[in-house]
Amino acid sequence: MRFFRRRPPATLPDNWIEIVEAGVAHWTLLDGGEREWLGELMEALVAEKRWESAHGFALTDEVRTIIAAQASLLILGLDFDWYQAVQAIVVHPSEIVQREPQPGPIEGTMEEGPFSLLGLADHRYGPVLIAWDVAKANARHPAWGRDVVFHEFAHKLDMLDDVVDGTPPLHHPEDGPRWHSVCTRELELLRDGEGWPLRDYGAQDPGEFFAVATEAFFNLPLQLEEAKPELYEVLRAFYLQDPAARLRRRATGP
Ligand SMILES: [Zn+2]
Repeated sequence: MRFFRRRPPATLPDNWIEIVEAGVAHWTLLDGGEREWLGELMEALVAEKRWESAHGFALTDEVRTIIAAQASLLILGLDFDWYQAVQAIVVHPSEIVQREPQPGPIEGTMEEGPFSLLGLADHRYGPVLIAWDVAKANARHPAWGRDVVFHEFAHKLDMLDDVVDGTPPLHHPEDGPRWHSVCTRELELLRDGEGWPLRDYGAQDPGEFFAVATEAFFNLPLQLEEAKPELYEVLRAFYLQDPAARLRRRATGP
């Protein structure tokens, strides 16, 4: 008979607020209630998901806390159940190199590696892979308009209905037609070079479009709201958050 010893679940470190204050720019925009809820989501994410590191990289309190904060921010208007497709979070120190062949751009074809990635959310219950150096820089600099944690965890929300098609489960079925028409039109505009402030990477397919639009929604909300108000609105209705209002609140003060 063999005995397996379970590792005790991890917890947030006592100084998690200090870590987040120093490393997560969005923290300064949250009000007291939002900060408290963020802390509860972070606690659940750290304790209930499997955290692993690649290549002997040290999974420090800072690493877990910053990634948990960014991932929790995405579901601040939702709740923890939305991460039921997240089982493991695997942190790499830096760019992730994959050597296995990958499906190519044409269906049924494979491309030879190596491929370098900053993150990956593979299939429904597959792990989320994150490159720590990139995640850390993104959390400090939202104005860059990109975030590997928002991106990969957005794919996990998209996967909840089993398909990565750019449409996560919507709160009301009647929202479907508007979601599809807005996202389809904006994907076409992005492919035609009129996607700003969305990154070109989102032009690949509807799944990447949703992940890239999520990055802009959180990190460039004022620009997205102004340039693409309908896209901003469907994302606001899904995430049940209004990051542009948060920024304006800070600009005008209490
Ligand atoms: Zn992606």
